[in-house]
Amino acid sequence: MADTPVNWPFTPSPLAIDIVGAQGCHLHARDGRKILDAAGGAMVVNIGHGRREPGEAMARASSAVSYVIPPFVTPQRMQLAERLQRDWLPPGFTRLHLSSGGSEAVETAIKLARQHHFAKGDTGKWKVIGRDLSYHGATVATLEIGGHAARRAPVAAMARETPKAPPHYCLRCPLGKTYPTCDVACADEVEAIILREGPDTVAGVIAEPVVGSSGGALEPPPGYWRKLRAICDRHDVVLIADEVVTGFGRTGVRFASEGEGALPDIIATAKGMSGGYAPIGGTFATERIAEPLERTGDAPMFYTFSAHPAACAAADAVLDILSKEDLMARARVMGDRLGARLQRLKQHPNVAEVRGRGLLRAIEIVRDRETLERFPAEANITMKVLNGGLAENVYFYPGGTGAQRDVIVLAPPFIVTDAEIETMCAVLERAIDRAVEGDS
Ligand code: PLP
Repeated sequence: MADTPVNWPFTPSPLAIDIVGAQGCHLHARDGRKILDAAGGAMVVNIGHGRREPGEAMARASSAVSYVIPPFVTPQRMQLAERLQRDWLPPGFTRLHLSSGGSEAVETAIKLARQHHFAKGDTGKWKVIGRDLSYHGATVATLEIGGHAARRAPVAAMARETPKAPPHYCLRCPLGKTYPTCDVACADEVEAIILREGPDTVAGVIAEPVVGSSGGALEPPPGYWRKLRAICDRHDVVLIADEVVTGFGRTGVRFASEGEGALPDIIATAKGMSGGYAPIGGTFATERIAEPLERTGDAPMFYTFSAHPAACAAADAVLDILSKEDLMARARVMGDRLGARLQRLKQHPNVAEVRGRGLLRAIEIVRDRETLERFPAEANITMKVLNGGLAENVYFYPGGTGAQRDVIVLAPPFIVTDAEIETMCAVLERAIDRAVEGDS
């Protein structure tokens, strides 16, 4: 044994709690505590913790084929691909690329947008327009197209900067407008950027259908996605939906972009695809996007662990459970109940907004609800709420980024019960009370 222990995590974290088991909606700590997982880990866990089927499927897969590079076909890969096509993907999404998580899935999506144009001979089209307040992953390229200011800052110099559109953040509209008189002007800003940059330089636009943790469950105003679709069509720009959080039923429908009445060209997804049982991500594209690559033989690159047989088996088992137990419908029903219960927190003097869809919800905490003045960063309200929750054995997800601070995200497993919803909301209210005490 080395004298100096290896540091896990890399830098100190209040979340370095020793978890030795997990069941249903609870994490079991070594010291005996049972912590209610109100965040589904990181908006990941859907069928709940502790199911045997995914692990058993992984064991069977590993004993059959431990590893073979991605172009080979294996039963696990084919079974997952067929299930995705049959039960999950929107019509027209015929091309599939698998990876190990959300960052890889998004990175594949943005490269695919670029490769699509490149293969058609439009070699000048490379920029991908992102939006402020969105998070798309932890690689240098995904940080760059994202608008997570805090995470992007340390690596900004390493990436080629691309323009960001304003988010649909109606509570504090960056354009100073109000819905519906705004006529969804934030979507028009995307077109203004494309025109300013030159349409012949823009490969894609990327957006989360519901902005996940960094914005805090920001829903688009009605019509936003239809506008994005029309703008992308006008300028031959690929529309990418980042459904890493929202995919596979989290918002109560298969993919949140489907519910917006305008399908994207590429969907990048991960978390809910395996419900946390194995690392896997997926990038799905339409024939129109993929076909030019076929002509040039320029297929998207795979990663060594792309479509790993055991991960495919786990995802297949999780998606099977989601379907057989009708858990997406349950996400819709329990999401409505969570939303309704959270509405009661709207009376709290420090809660500016309660928002979200399905089992992706968030609250925004402010010092003054009338003026929307935030607490100063040094007050560390989000971490205080997180710690206050943990003190009562409930784990919330710390959302927000940069100036957009003090956002708490709730994204429990789809099997969450009414009693668990009541516990998490009551604990959240007390945690806010304690966090703002003395700072208000
Ligand atoms: N996209 C969104 C919307 C996310 O929320 C995340 C992670 O939280 C990612 C991409 C990156 O996924 P991963 O952490 O699996 O690489």
